[in-house]
Amino acid sequence: MRTEGQSSNVEDRRGMGRGGRSLVGGGLGMIILVVIGMFFGIDPRVLLGLAGTVETVQQQVAPQKIEGKQGPVSDQLGAFVSGVLLDTEKTWNTLFAQLGKNYQEPRLVIFDGATPTACGTGQAAMGPFYCPLDQRVYIDLAFYRQLQERFKAPGDFAQAYVIAHEVGHHVQNQLGIMQKMDEYRRRMSETQYNALSVRLELQADCLAGVWAHHAQNRQLLEAGDVEEAMRAASAIGDDTIQRRTQGRIVPDSFTHGTSEQRMRWFMTGMKSGQISACNTFEGNQI
Ligand SMILES: [Zn+2]
Repeated sequence: MRTEGQSSNVEDRRGMGRGGRSLVGGGLGMIILVVIGMFFGIDPRVLLGLAGTVETVQQQVAPQKIEGKQGPVSDQLGAFVSGVLLDTEKTWNTLFAQLGKNYQEPRLVIFDGATPTACGTGQAAMGPFYCPLDQRVYIDLAFYRQLQERFKAPGDFAQAYVIAHEVGHHVQNQLGIMQKMDEYRRRMSETQYNALSVRLELQADCLAGVWAHHAQNRQLLEAGDVEEAMRAASAIGDDTIQRRTQGRIVPDSFTHGTSEQRMRWFMTGMKSGQISACNTFEGNQI
């Protein structure tokens, strides 16, 4: 895909060292991070183990303010990510205005290794994630190498889809959907909550598709781009990842949706271009 310009909401923390260790928020944020942070199906037990450590050791430490470099990013990949973010801002500013709402643009932090967030220490191993408590998307760009090599999903539009999915979580946050999820969590079994979490993730995929629709209208997409996003959505479905890592599928433990569901909801959003097409919480079948 082509991009035009860069977002003013990017913060570049690369090369700032691994200062994240002692700078952690509280327990609740960490749980949210575990739930929504695993864009790419990292074994939740790994993350939960990590969360446990972070919580016990550093629960009382307030997140320290850390500011990376603002302004245009000079390397190619960083500039691309910033350009994608800018385009999501155009889309969501317009669509929120149509709803009579004001879109508060998220910030995007590029980091390497580890960085403090209001949801606990962000680790590269988690994959890209969105922290609702500080309304930031976090990404270590090394992840894109993994996407290409481990998940066999190369291409710039696969990369753009990752950003658009995380921004989709921000849109959910702005629409109050995440807060509702948080209330439900307290009253539900793990299996029930996982089922709801799948719907949240598929909605973020659908919202990424909505953005893609408008990017296409702006003539930013190139031949093969949609296929790249589909390949990424397919490669990171829970069923595909579980088959690779466990050799079997356990649907109750799905938190992101199957490959088929993820591709289908992305396409649903892309065909329609409307938020209203993304009601993944309706109906028994998703
Ligand atoms: Zn997600």
